[in-house]
Amino acid sequence: MLLLLLVWEYVRSRSNLVPWASVVWFSNNIPKHAFVLWLLMGEKLKTQDKLKHWEVNSQVLVCTLCEQVQDSHDHLFFNCPFSNQVWNRVKQHMEFPIFSDSWKDFMLLVSPFAKRRVARIIVVKLLFAATVYSIWQERNNRLFKKKKRSVDRV
Ligand SMILES: [Zn+2]
Repeated sequence: MLLLLLVWEYVRSRSNLVPWASVVWFSNNIPKHAFVLWLLMGEKLKTQDKLKHWEVNSQVLVCTLCEQVQDSHDHLFFNCPFSNQVWNRVKQHMEFPIFSDSWKDFMLLVSPFAKRRVARIIVVKLLFAATVYSIWQERNNRLFKKKKRSVDRV
C-alpha cells in the first residue's frame, strides 16, 4: 500500500493551489454541491455559450430560467433575473454580507476567510455551494426534463 501511495505521489500532476480551494473543498461540504461549484470556478459547466463551439445553432438557445438570453456562467449564477431572485431569498437568511455583483467577486471576498473553522463561515460556504447547485439543477431540469420550479421552491 505504501508503495502505491509513493508511486501515486510521484506520477500525479500538481498545479498551484488556487485561492478559492478552501471555499469549495472542506470537510463539511456536500460533495455534489462542491463538485458543481468546482466546475463553476473553472468555468467548465456546459453552458449555452460554450455550445457555440460545437456548431449548435446558437439562435435557438435561450436561458431556461429567464428565457431572455443565452446562458453562460456569469448569466446563470448572478445576472439572470430568476437566479437573482433566488440569491435575494438566500440573502434574507444571511447576516454576513457575502453577495456582490458576481460569483467571482464572492470568491475573492470569501477566500481570505475560507480556512477558518468558524460556524458562520462554514454556513456561508455551504449556502453558497447549495445555491449554485440548485440553480444549475433547475436550469438542467428545465432544459432536459421540462420541469419548472418556482423561485421559492428552488
Ligand atoms: Zn436567465
